[in-house]
Amino acid sequence: MSDRATLLARLQEGRDWDLAVIGGGAVGLGVALDAAVRGFSVALVESHDFAQGTSSRATKLAHGGVRYLAQGDIGLVREALHERTALLHNAPHVAQRLPFVMPAYQWWERGFYGAGLKMYDALAGRQGLGGTEWLGAARTQTLLPGVNMHGPGGVHGRLHGGVRYWDGQFDDARLALLLARTALARGALVLNHCAATGLLHENGQVRGVQVQDRETGAAASLRARCVVNAAGVWVDAVRAMDRVAEAAAPPPMVAPSQGVHLVVDRAFLPGDHALLVPKTTDGRVLFAVPWLGKTILGTTDTPRQDLAREPAPFAEEVAFILGESARYLARAPQRSDVRSVWVGLRPLVRPQGDSSDTKALSREHTVLVAPSGLVTVTGGKWTTYRSMAEDVLARAMARGLLPHKPGGVTAQLALLGSAPGRPLSEPPGEHLYGSEAAALRQLPGATNWLWRDAESGRGALSEAMVRFAVRFEMARSVEDVLARRCRVLFLDAAEAARLAEPVAAIVAEELGHGRPADVTDFQALAAQYQRLP
Ligand SMILES: Cc1cc2nc3c(=O)[nH]c(=O)nc-3n(C[C@H](O)[C@H](O)[C@H](O)COP(=O)(O)OP(=O)(O)OC[C@H]3O[C@@H](n4cnc5c(N)ncnc54)[C@H](O)[C@@H]3O)c2cc1C
Repeated sequence: MSDRATLLARLQEGRDWDLAVIGGGAVGLGVALDAAVRGFSVALVESHDFAQGTSSRATKLAHGGVRYLAQGDIGLVREALHERTALLHNAPHVAQRLPFVMPAYQWWERGFYGAGLKMYDALAGRQGLGGTEWLGAARTQTLLPGVNMHGPGGVHGRLHGGVRYWDGQFDDARLALLLARTALARGALVLNHCAATGLLHENGQVRGVQVQDRETGAAASLRARCVVNAAGVWVDAVRAMDRVAEAAAPPPMVAPSQGVHLVVDRAFLPGDHALLVPKTTDGRVLFAVPWLGKTILGTTDTPRQDLAREPAPFAEEVAFILGESARYLARAPQRSDVRSVWVGLRPLVRPQGDSSDTKALSREHTVLVAPSGLVTVTGGKWTTYRSMAEDVLARAMARGLLPHKPGGVTAQLALLGSAPGRPLSEPPGEHLYGSEAAALRQLPGATNWLWRDAESGRGALSEAMVRFAVRFEMARSVEDVLARRCRVLFLDAAEAARLAEPVAAIVAEELGHGRPADVTDFQALAAQYQRLP
């Protein structure tokens, strides 16, 4: 089903599609899956790899957004809580509930934050993942063994206690792959490394997309009655292709905001609870989250004008994350402790007028239908990708671009491999494959471990996983494998660099290439993920 030559041949058939989707991140893939399940014919192109943009660089929290509750955005929180349930239910092998503890160092913090979180529970209602609890100091330390007992910088004295609440976490890139593959299984055509290079117009209306395969250079025209622009922070570049139908270049929709994550060893935050600091010195939120055998620290919210594919962190962002982590963790992570640093661009919807404070921008999504019929969607968050997709299709049907077909079809749609999994705090391994683990074990090299988790000694990346990535998960390169099929680049960039050559050899064998691809570019990328400004 995922054979590239077959997919390319289908792309070049010259047929008419109901829907063409530009962008293979959370939102575009969500649209393609929903449309396919409703019975529409749909083709999606992704210029790089699935989730190579923002959708592999999230904090990986399936959450209602406690922070948005504080901003009074009840509707957004309620919707996200509902979506959190659907996500955890439909892909339990890559999305699970996760307990969080907010440590309290001042007498009023426990009551104040606890009351807010009780409201969060109330909004979740029966969809709650566990009740909020007030904790004493000893219990807080038991649940968060890495917490600083002495308070941030000793300013506020000792730990008073804390509040525990529940949210979810997931493996963002693997979830995107599951959306792509489930969409394929439902009849959609989804293709990575194939860019939209132009729009087809007829009488001022968008009637399709010109695409180009980045591997062979082959071009094709996809005729479609509805074109969805789900290009994340890059939506404005696609809207610029629509200029034929519009007098002037449309004003930009996106105000990108950069978020940095630092990954350190699990030893900095042992246990299976995440730590949330609701208000850092400059009013931001800081997370320390156990994920795939490591600890993710982050994030930041820095306005950015350029739209780099691999944005680099700013020195102040790294200093902020390390500085604040040092205030709340018993063992302060140093620069030399950072195993990987990765940066994502939030596609925040630009407000009327100008705002330089991206923290204040709405996290809600926007769907805009241009006079040409081009449907652009951006904003929102990973957690709400499914409801965003429903919204996109509802708008397209309301505008008569698509015939009406009832929605709600993905609310309880199990994604490929759906089966209860082990906690995502554990190192990566076969458990991330759910019911597909049996097929994985049949492949050559199932017990040939290329990478083991240093702490537990458990196998984290096998030769078979690399083969599986190429055969079934549409991986085309070492980067596709090590960044998004297996998350080594995000967990330990030096290990990813070490693995590049052995992985290249297996990828070449699977692709039927005579010799392994040059890994120089990947080594440079892995070096960037190790470099702090
Ligand atoms: C730092 C950070 C932390 C976050 N944390 C969370 C979190 O914990 N929980 C949560 O729910 N959300 C979180 N988010 C938000 C979430 O990650 C994003 O809202 C979501 O991933 C956006 O998905 P998207 O599909 O719109 O964009 P993208 O994932 O960027 O997808 C757009 C795709 O379009 C492709 N594209 C662009 N141009 C073309 C073209 N011409 N032809 C073909 N393809 C094209 C790109 O290559 C890209 O893959 C976070 C975001 C950031 C930045």
